[in-house]
Order: sequence, then structure tokens, then C-alpha cells
Amino acid sequence: MTKFKRILLKLSGESLLGEQGYGIDVKRLNQYAKQIKEVADMGVQIGIVIGGGNIFRGLAGTGKGFDRVKGDQMGMCATVINALGLSSALDAIGQKNRVLTAIRMEPVGEFFNKWKAIEALNNGEVVIMGAGTGSPYFTTDTGSSLRGIEIEADVMLKGTRVDGIYTADPEKDPTATKFHDITYAEVIARDLKVMDISATAMCMQNNLPIYVFNMDIEGNLKKVIAGEEIGTLVHN
Ligand code: UDP
Repeated sequence: MTKFKRILLKLSGESLLGEQGYGIDVKRLNQYAKQIKEVADMGVQIGIVIGGGNIFRGLAGTGKGFDRVKGDQMGMCATVINALGLSSALDAIGQKNRVLTAIRMEPVGEFFNKWKAIEALNNGEVVIMGAGTGSPYFTTDTGSSLRGIEIEADVMLKGTRVDGIYTADPEKDPTATKFHDITYAEVIARDLKVMDISATAMCMQNNLPIYVFNMDIEGNLKKVIAGEEIGTLVHN
């Protein structure tokens, strides 16, 4: 028995860095692919939104004189590079998958629409959704909320390098304590850096629960799917 039937998995681009300063750590990528296949084999339908921070973030460009919209478009292209990398890693281990993009760029990926995504999920394909929302001034967190709601996922699983949400950044403050669960309203009120406010608000308005957990430990995705409480749940 699995706790969730259909999930939206959000992977940050930054976590693909692994032990590198830039780009994609193939070891990390393969480790993610393996965990994803493991839960796909359990019959779970998996939609994935992947970030691009390991390659380029729009805001970082703005600081160096880039036009914000062009910078964000570069960031969205970065998410597509990561989507293709993950797709290749899944291909290599025999996991059926499909890349859909929010910006038209066939043949790199098919143009996203809700029904195509759901059809692929029902066929047992892992659906990787690149280019975020397709619009500047958003992040892939908002992209994940949007796609999670559109594909009617049971939950958004936010795979990070920390094992949940803390009262403060546990990497900086040793006195920080972890929440077992927390409401969206409290996340916003306490200004906890789980996701940006627009992404959190969107999940709140549409009742999409978020589960934050450490995806960098092999086997953790499977544990979450099996209902083990290893992270933090955000709910209404
Ligand atoms: N981006 C955007 N619109 C979106 C999603 C992403 O413009 O809907 C751009 C934005 O510049 C962002 C970059 O793509 O900084 C990479 O995404 P993000 O920062 O969310 O990646 P992550 O932090 O998850 O690695």
C-alpha cells in the first residue's frame, strides 16, 4: 500500500549540484533517478518539476546588469537542461518518461497541457515538466504548485537537503527545532523559507498539501510514499 497515488515531486536545481560548484553532478542525478524509479515501480504516478539554480537564476543576472525577463528566460532554459538530464538518467535505467515544457520548444519536449500530462501519468510514464510556469517573475516553486494542482496530485513532495521545516535555518542556527506539521498560514506568518509566498499561497487556496523531506538520503522518497513521517507536512 502506498500513501499517495499521484505525486508532484519538486527538485531544486541546486540539489543537482551535489559536490560540485556548478552544473549537474551525475552521481546525484542517478541517485535521484533510482529513487524515482523505485516509487514508480510501486505504481505511484510521478510528475516532476525541476529547478535551474545549479545553472542560472534570473535574479542573479539582474544584479549583473541583465534584463530581468531575459534572465528569467535563461533560468527557465536551465530548468529544461535539468529536465533533459533527469530524463536521460531515467531512460538509462529503463524508466519510461516524458519531458513536457511550459514554453514551446519541440522537439526538445512536448508543449505542456494538463490532459497530455495526465494521460502520460496514466500510462505509467514519469512526467518531467520543464520551464517552470513559462513566465518570468515566477520560480519553479510556483511552477510546482501550479503543475501539482493541474495534474490533480495528492501531494507536493519537496525534496531538499534538509529533513523538514525548522523554526530557523538549521544549517545556521543549532537551536532550531523541526516541525512535524505546520499550516500554510504559519509558514507565511513566520516567513519560513520553505517556498516563496506565491507558491505557498497557491497550495493553500487549492488545498495541495506539501511534504518537505531530505531527498539526498537514498531510499527517503520510498519512505515518504510508504507513509513514514521523516519530514514536515504543510496543510490548511
Ligand atoms: N523561472 C522563471 N519562471 C518560472 C520558473 C523559473 O522565470 O516559472 C526562472 C527564474 O529566473 C529562476 C530560474 O528560472 O530563478 C530557475 O528556477 P528556480 O530559481 O526556481 O530554481 P531552483 O531554486 O529550484 O534551483
